[in-house]
Amino acid sequence: MRRCFYKAFAAAFLTAFVGVLSFTGCTRYNVAEPLDSFSSKDAGTLSGKELAVEGGTTWLAGKDYTNFILTGEARTEADAEASLLFHTDGMSGYEVLFRNGAIDGTRKSGSLAAVRNLYRSQVEDGQWFKFSIAVRGKNIEVAINDTAVVCYTEPAQPYRVEAYAKRLLSHGDIALRGASGKVAFRDLQITRLKDDALNPNDTLPPVDETTDKVIRYQQQNFPVIDYHVHLKGGLTKEMAHAMSMNYGINYGIAPNAGEGGVGRMLADDKEVYEYFDEVKDMPFLRGVQGEGRKWTMTFSQEALGVFDYLFTDAMTIVDRKGRLSRIYRPEEVHYDGLSKDQYMAQIVDQTVKILTNEPADIFANPTYIPDDMNPDYAKYWTDERVDKVLDVLEKYQIALEINPRYKIPSFDIIRKAKERGIKFTFGTNNVDANFGRLEYCFEAVEKCGLTAEDMWFPSMSIRRERPVVIYNKF
Ligand SMILES: [Zn+2]
Repeated sequence: MRRCFYKAFAAAFLTAFVGVLSFTGCTRYNVAEPLDSFSSKDAGTLSGKELAVEGGTTWLAGKDYTNFILTGEARTEADAEASLLFHTDGMSGYEVLFRNGAIDGTRKSGSLAAVRNLYRSQVEDGQWFKFSIAVRGKNIEVAINDTAVVCYTEPAQPYRVEAYAKRLLSHGDIALRGASGKVAFRDLQITRLKDDALNPNDTLPPVDETTDKVIRYQQQNFPVIDYHVHLKGGLTKEMAHAMSMNYGINYGIAPNAGEGGVGRMLADDKEVYEYFDEVKDMPFLRGVQGEGRKWTMTFSQEALGVFDYLFTDAMTIVDRKGRLSRIYRPEEVHYDGLSKDQYMAQIVDQTVKILTNEPADIFANPTYIPDDMNPDYAKYWTDERVDKVLDVLEKYQIALEINPRYKIPSFDIIRKAKERGIKFTFGTNNVDANFGRLEYCFEAVEKCGLTAEDMWFPSMSIRRERPVVIYNKF
């Protein structure tokens, strides 16, 4: 670090001569400087207003930075990936990724690699987009087109696996590194910030990584996505945004389309488009839940097709007397002389019909049964019944949600689904802002041996090509 000989005098006596000090070799703060020259031992120099990076080379700026804001623009080619490293010697430090394209399980632009991986890109290949990276004390903020996508505060005891042991804040160089294809950067500017700089948006306490599960999955690059988050019970999109960045969980935010649910409901195509417009620039995956049993008649495939994914559940069934029964409400569970086992058969029959005829990507709240039957969950979910449901999932390539709120499906059922090659998502179905961090999902991964290859992504969706079958007349 360069030291300024008369910094103390400057602060105490020479306020009026601050302008003069910039010529004396003092560190200049709060002044943007172009970052337009990088060099590599093997490949020479890379300089200019626009810098194109290709796979296999790391370029260093050759300076030392502690707190800073770096701004610029980037443009990716299809399937291209590059990264910008900071506090680095070319190997150490943090890495911010640049990669766009479909939600297919690859890590997207703005990801703080292996610490806060992101799975939906905010921008498109082939287009210039703005980004910024700020380090203020222990806080790292990454923004894409002026929207924060990462706000990570390094805790006192960060958790790092051996491969990423040096991804820690200290000070160091800036580097550009190509991984594949071509990624271009332009107008890179860096502004040094003072040692006591703080991020005013960093308001939540840092996560305790000595016990946190999420960081352990992030460090394995295992996708941490909660596809089933509803803005209800006081959870606003701003709160969801802050929580998602703080916890390190990608949220898929979904309204309910149809009728009979709780919280915000979309009633027709017009409301679907209006809602989508509201959330399209938020850094979430964009889902929608088909609710009630009439949604396939109410909405066009085209309107629901704008969402990244669509899910439904079998918590609303049409019983044998033709009544819509929300089986999560005890007063709507009508046995009408049926034994519980016969009622169970009816639930399974309805589940098969729903998943066969309603084109959904994900079976949510799966294997849910009414509260009074749940103590005997394993008895009612016989092998034969489980197979009937898994047959449909397999046939229509529908993913099975692992739901931490209800702790369903059981690990036995998850193991059976994995054996068949059925893919999984994690999804909470929260009722308010106070919900967990996928604990049951992580337990399922560990107990059932799931890997990143077992996970479903919207790029696998076939729902837009599936026909809608109207099967319940009511
Ligand atoms: Zn839901």
